[in-house]
Amino acid sequence: MSDCIFCKIVEGAIPSTKLFEDDLAIAILDINPITFGHSLYIAKEHYPTLLNVPEGELGDIIKNLQKVVSALLKATGCEGFNIIQNNTRCAGQLVPHLHFHLIPRRSGDPIRFNWQIQPYQKEESQKLAEDIKKQLTK
Ligand code: AMP
Ligand code: ZN
Repeated sequence: MSDCIFCKIVEGAIPSTKLFEDDLAIAILDINPITFGHSLYIAKEHYPTLLNVPEGELGDIIKNLQKVVSALLKATGCEGFNIIQNNTRCAGQLVPHLHFHLIPRRSGDPIRFNWQIQPYQKEESQKLAEDIKKQLTK
């Protein structure tokens, strides 16, 4: 994708602070970190979202995700982490090229996710579960 910033980073056409590379993915520091060490694990192939990855290939793409997170935590001295993976604009995705945010966390840090609970109405959850299971067997 010629106008994709992550494709350009993968190709080396624009600079990045690269942490890791294998056949299918790279990891770089995010240019606008929300915590110290906030990094991105990026598929080399241009898949706009997670659902564009051919069935069965996601595991290979994230084969080294655990290893990168582990190194990130050791290097930053963090206890925990969040992995966030946005898909499409409505979910906050600004760069439509598959990537995972790796966000190191420590006790007392100021990061708060706006996680507003919206309880189910009576029997709504049961109906929803049935609908999802129907889709899964299609
Ligand atoms: P998302 O909203 O999930 O698509 O996140 C895109 C992320 O890419 C943001 O956190 C940006 O800060 C990051 N980003 C954009 N351009 C660059 C770049 N040139 N180098 C590193 N990170 C970038
Ligand atoms: Zn791309």
